[in-house]
Amino acid sequence: KLFNELQELKGNIRVFCRVRPFLPGQGAPNTVVEYVGEDGELVVTNPTRPGKDGLRQFKFNKVYSPTATQAEVFSDIRPLVRSVLDGYNVCIFAYGQTGSGKTYTMSGPDGSSEEDWGVNYRALNDLFKISQSRKGNISYEVGVQMVEIYNEQVLDLLSDDNSQKKLGILSTTQQNGLAVPDASMYPVTSTSDVITLMDIGLQNRAVGSTALNERSSRSHSIVTVHVRGKDLKTGSVLYGNLHLVDLAGSERVDRSEVTGDRLREAQHINKSLSSLGDVIFSLASKSSHVPYRNSKLTQLLQTSLGGRAKTLMFVQLNPDATSYSESMSTLKFAERVS
Ligand code: ADP
Ligand code: MG
Repeated sequence: KLFNELQELKGNIRVFCRVRPFLPGQGAPNTVVEYVGEDGELVVTNPTRPGKDGLRQFKFNKVYSPTATQAEVFSDIRPLVRSVLDGYNVCIFAYGQTGSGKTYTMSGPDGSSEEDWGVNYRALNDLFKISQSRKGNISYEVGVQMVEIYNEQVLDLLSDDNSQKKLGILSTTQQNGLAVPDASMYPVTSTSDVITLMDIGLQNRAVGSTALNERSSRSHSIVTVHVRGKDLKTGSVLYGNLHLVDLAGSERVDRSEVTGDRLREAQHINKSLSSLGDVIFSLASKSSHVPYRNSKLTQLLQTSLGGRAKTLMFVQLNPDATSYSESMSTLKFAERVS
């Protein structure tokens, strides 16, 4: 009960921290993660200040240790995902530096088996399965869009001609309005539909990448699930949507070292991530003005952030000591919005 009251106060914003494991072949790992508690406590240690002085404590709604499985993570967020079928708008983000496990959490590893599936697959599968099971009472339609925001431009990840056409965002206050009406929309009715869609989206996302810099770490990808449910007895209709967002890498770029395209990308990423932080922070602190208009990301998500909408941020950590300063800036971002 206390937890619910707390959530009310905070405007339905939850922060879950996930620490990824060390990868095979990483050598003798030196971790910054000192302690993971049952109730969302996390203690990290500064590798250059061993001992008590270097310890820093954080508290989130939940912290996952490196051994947490994809199924465990999804079972915690299943109720949130399902609330979309009751007409809620839900946003789930993954935030963190490149290599911290954002894509693993949201999509899963490359060529993943069902056991490794990330939130995107599990959420979609769960939604259309539940909607099937309610078929006699409520008739649901589930449709999916998938876009990418790169350099403050919105691109369709599900277009079949791969035109990289820039899409406009419609500022709409209607719950059933589409924020990006021109992005391709596909119905999903089976697991194979889900897999096909995700494959197209991930392939299109990889197209812009060069050998040197992986584009996917410098763009935000957004899977949006639209649900329309019609009550067969009363005829009333409800709408809900779910945004699943794999954010661009949050690492700070040394401005003295990059120029041109790379600098421009870094500035756009910086601007959109800080706008997202500002929006969530002003919602959490019940501020009267919420600055949605400062980035494409927050404009696109506007109707699903704030109000009755529910927000969950996965804060991803690379446990390696060499990532300490990036991890601290990730944790400070998360602390501000939680
Ligand atoms: P990001 O999207 O933040 O750049 P990735 O999701 O690509 O990071 O993760 C980096 C690497 O770590 C990948 O090889 C990924 O498979 C692996 N990885 C991340 N999280 C986990 C995890 N929880 N369990 C196992 N491997 C993981
Ligand atoms: Mg990634």
